[in-house]
Amino acid sequence: MTQEELFKSLVSHAKEYGFIFPSSEIYDGLSAVYDYGQLGVELKNNIKRYWWESMVRLNENIVGIDSAIFMHPRIWEASGHVGAFNDPLIDNKDSKKRYRADVLLEDYLAKLEEKIEKEVAKGRKKFGDAFDEEQFRATNPNVLRNRSKINEVHSRMVAALEANDLQALRDLILDCEIVCPISGTKNWTDVRQFNLMFSTQIGSVSDDAGIIYLRPETAQGIFVNFLNVQKTGRMKIPFGIAQIGKAFRNEIVARQFIFRMREFEQMEMQFFVRPGEEIKWYEKWKETRLKWHKAMGLGDDKYRFHDHDKLAHYANAAADIEFEFPFGFKELEGIHSRTDFDLGNHQKFSGRKIQYFDPETNESYVPYVVETSIGLDRCFLAVYSSAYCEEKLDNGEERVVLRIPPFLAPVKAAVLPLVKKDGLPEKAREIMNMLKFDFNCQYDEKDSIGKRYRRQDAIGTPYCITVDHDTLKDGCVTVRDRDTMEQERVKIDELKNLIDNKTSFRNILQKL
Ligand code: ATP
Repeated sequence: MTQEELFKSLVSHAKEYGFIFPSSEIYDGLSAVYDYGQLGVELKNNIKRYWWESMVRLNENIVGIDSAIFMHPRIWEASGHVGAFNDPLIDNKDSKKRYRADVLLEDYLAKLEEKIEKEVAKGRKKFGDAFDEEQFRATNPNVLRNRSKINEVHSRMVAALEANDLQALRDLILDCEIVCPISGTKNWTDVRQFNLMFSTQIGSVSDDAGIIYLRPETAQGIFVNFLNVQKTGRMKIPFGIAQIGKAFRNEIVARQFIFRMREFEQMEMQFFVRPGEEIKWYEKWKETRLKWHKAMGLGDDKYRFHDHDKLAHYANAAADIEFEFPFGFKELEGIHSRTDFDLGNHQKFSGRKIQYFDPETNESYVPYVVETSIGLDRCFLAVYSSAYCEEKLDNGEERVVLRIPPFLAPVKAAVLPLVKKDGLPEKAREIMNMLKFDFNCQYDEKDSIGKRYRRQDAIGTPYCITVDHDTLKDGCVTVRDRDTMEQERVKIDELKNLIDNKTSFRNILQKL
């Protein structure tokens, strides 16, 4: 199965099993907007909990807030979003499709990288054990030609983006002979800037004075509450404020399922530090956040850092944590050293003093900020896509299993009476009633036990608990493990401990 086919199957699986539905489906959907179903919301809430507890509960100097989506419109002038939150767009005149110019170029660069990797794989096959990869990369003419092309295109792209030179971006697309993936032609329009913020009206006035924006990031809600939290919480620098909430961007290139949405959720933490100490904290948070990701157990080699080529208007250092999605390595989280740009500008625009008096140095200053910003939906996609697995079993049967890390699994255990009679359903209900106060459990008595196991595998339930006739005599049940499919007899009294050991947040949080 190709990666593309795999991706298609996992998207339809997400719908079939109640993880994610296209929004407004009975009206043919709304592009790049999705709804989370009955299992999706459980997984999403577990990811939120993992993030929140690792930030707010484990760090005495980080507190959380929940600020409103609507904010004073001046905030977006101060933050730079009205002036600079733009994407360079280009249209293909034949297909009438619109693309982000930088994304077209990045896809082109990714293809050249792919060519290099194919060449290296060919060499490896040809030379076998005698293959010296380093030397091959340094001398093979095809590799060298593609590498120098990558370097040239990359540096021209960065220069054009930094200078906001839209003509240079267009020239580069033409020079690379990039064609529209739909029409296959090079018939491109000029490159134009497009602001990504959604606007709406507040109150009954329908003139410009009533225009407000849906927030494109949650961070500004933290900045404008900096003094409130610092004073009421008696916070001492360094300290952080965390928030989980919706953000909205009018993305033009909406694609790749929940990777790029118009309405999405962010989990952001702004860490306020002494000026001059920001790079130390930036490095520290890069390391801490990578550890958080790796502790989930999706595979250490699925993550890498990518330093930003073009720094945002507010940053003096920035890196992404990229994840290997089925469509390649892409940004999952951003870590930015935002300097005093935001607080400084809010001070200017609001006319209020936003400063911190540092009792240790006896100085007042505008704190510097290091931000960690992760897309909740992208994190969901990372967990979900790496968990999805179509397996052939020893007995020739096939199963789809979601190997979701047990602590994040939407349902922790399924309680299944072997048959629908002889008092087994009653016993199974008794077990449900005992477990439901600690774990999200499902009761299922329909269809053969094999079919029920498959259904639970397909939604990632770590344990299936089967109640059979012996249970009524010996007080034991059969517990089946999702991943190994091994079964063991367990006393009903021991179930709680067993499930807890496998699925508790505690075990993961202690690793951080
Ligand atoms: P991209 O380059 O992919 O557009 P970005 O650099 O604009 O992303 P940030 O502004 O750094 O993203 O936002 C922080 C995080 O929010 C991202 O790492 C990503 O996980 C998430 N995010 C941003 N835009 C979207 C979106 N349209 N849909 C889903 N998640 C998003």
